[in-house]
This record gives sequence, C-alpha cells and structure tokens, in this order.
Amino acid sequence: MTELSLIVPCHNEEQNVEAFYARCLEVFLPETFEVVFVNDGSKDGTYRKLQILHEKYSNILVVNFSRNFGKESAIYAGLKYATGTYISIIDADLQQDPEIVRNMVKILDEKPEVDVVAAYQAQRHEGKLMGWCKDRFYKFINRLSEVDLRENASDFRTFRSNVQEALLGMPEYFRFSKGLFSWVGFETEYIPYEAAERFAGTTKWNFAKLFKYAMEGIVSFSTVPLQIATFCGAIVSAIAIIYGIIIIAQTLITGIDVPGYATTIVVVLFLGGVQLLVMGILGEYLAKTYVQGKHRPVYIAKNVLEKETVDIDEESVQKHEKNVVKK
Ligand code: UDP
Ligand code: MG
Repeated sequence: MTELSLIVPCHNEEQNVEAFYARCLEVFLPETFEVVFVNDGSKDGTYRKLQILHEKYSNILVVNFSRNFGKESAIYAGLKYATGTYISIIDADLQQDPEIVRNMVKILDEKPEVDVVAAYQAQRHEGKLMGWCKDRFYKFINRLSEVDLRENASDFRTFRSNVQEALLGMPEYFRFSKGLFSWVGFETEYIPYEAAERFAGTTKWNFAKLFKYAMEGIVSFSTVPLQIATFCGAIVSAIAIIYGIIIIAQTLITGIDVPGYATTIVVVLFLGGVQLLVMGILGEYLAKTYVQGKHRPVYIAKNVLEKETVDIDEESVQKHEKNVVKK
C-alpha cells in the first residue's frame, strides 16, 4: 500500500520535473510513495518529460489537463487520484524540499491527533509593498470571514486521507485552498520552512494574479463586503436626507438660493461613485454564483497516465535503503 502521495501541480516546469522526481528518490523509498503529477496546460515540453518519467518509473501517475485551469484545479485533480495514507501538496520547482515532507510524515506518525501538517515561510523574500499588501489581506480576510488563515502558510501541506475526503466533498468551482483547508477544520500543526530558490524557470505569479486570487479568497469565504455595501448605502442616504432638509430649510428661510453648481456636481458624482462601488461588489458575488450555477467541472483531463502495478525488484530496494540510511 502506498504510504505517501505527492500531488505536484506543473505548469511549464519542463526543466524541473525530472530533478524533482530524482530528489524524491533520494528522500523516499520507491515503493513507499507515488507522485501524482498534474500537467496544468503547459506550453513547453513538460508533458513529454512526464511521459518519459512515467515510462521509466512505476509509481508515477500523470493527469494531463486539456488547458491551463490553474493551480487550485490541479490540486483538486491530484486529490482525486491520490491513494496514499498521507497526501502531500508540493510544488514542482524544488522550492519546497521533499525532505521537509519526510519531517511532516514523521509528525503525523508520532502524533495521531494531528491531521494536517502545514508549512509556513519563516522568512519572506519579497518587496515591502507586496509584504504590506499580503499583511493587509490576511488581516482583512481573518476579520471578515469564518475562516482563520495563518499568515504566510502555503499550500505546502501533508495530511491524512480523511482530510482529502473532506476537501473532495467540496466540489466548488472557485477553489481557494488556504480557505478550504481552514474551513474543513481538523487539527493542524504549523512548521516553519525556508523556501529555496526556484530550481529553474520563473514564477507564474505577478501582482495582478495575486490580487485576483486574493479577491477570490475574500468573495469565496465572506459575505461581509455585501454588508459593507449596505452600510455605505445607508450612511450616504442619511447624509443626503440631512443635506436635503438643510437645503429645504435654507430655501424656506432665505428664499431661492443662487444655484450651487459645484455642490450639485460633487453630490452627484459622489453618489454615482458609491452606487457603482456597491454594484461592483454585488456583481462580484453574482458573477461567482452565476458561474457556480452552471456546474462546470473544476478541470477537464485530456488523458491520464495511470500508475503501473509492477513488482518491485527487492534487490534494488535494499540497495536504495542502504543508501538512504548512509545519508
Ligand atoms: N502552477 C500550476 N498552474 C498554474 C500556475 C502554477 O500548476 O497556473 C504550479 C507551478 O508549476 C508550481 C506551483 O504551481 O509547481 C507553484 O507555482 P510558482 O512556483 O509559479 O509559484 P510561487 O512558488 O512563485 O508562489
Ligand atoms: Mg515556486
């Protein structure tokens, strides 16, 4: 029985997948783990590389998406195919060392009450502005939503299959893993880790993508923005009524005033702005409901390269075991 499943989302990771698997072989015994590579619509030779790996090794499964569906969808697909007692989500770029997964597994082995071991970055390597924005995001979402997100925690986690089942039981289209993990609950232990440099290639995230992701997180896990919209509307209406009364009183007492062009314009523009803002917030939720209402699948797989069931060569296993012990 497979002890550990590694779910590895890959988008244009042609130069990384082989190195990643080689590193896994250094850390784990081949018959104790499987790797579920999800090729998320890569435009480079990632799939070819995965095919070669799949031909060579029997503990590899490849889900090949029909296009790029995003990392969250890739994780969902991985969860569907993972068969291990423990399941780990890890990036293909070796920023997260498989060695850490071994520590995570150890914690799960030693502490039966812990269901999830999540890694968070002890130190962030990013600009001040980005750090500030992320800080704001976590404060905002933690205050506004029912989920409690740990700052700097990533998707890099190892968990038991009961958590996998719970996650699969949430077939929502807009998947914000950090939120889903928090929502399903379970005992979580956080361990710090140091993210290494990318082995090869470049990151797929930029500020705009992160912003969209953050918005998705907030809309998926909180309806407070809708209440804020109502609150804004109420405040502006109250101000308008008070101002209206003042104007009527002024007109009655001092007669018809010279038309206040500037005041009118400011009020009209301000009200227009607030209305658009509120409509925008409503629109965000409506759009999500609309898309979810279509019940489209989270991903479409073009094909799946299934894991082979091959007898393990005992001799090579023992040799490997000796090597690992030596290390
Ligand atoms: N990834 C993916 N689909 C995407 C974008 C990224 O499967 O649309 C994968 C990517 O191949 C990598 C992981 O998600 O294995 C993390 O991506 P990346 O390294 O670009 O993010 P960062 O480490 O910079 O946060
Ligand atoms: Mg990375």
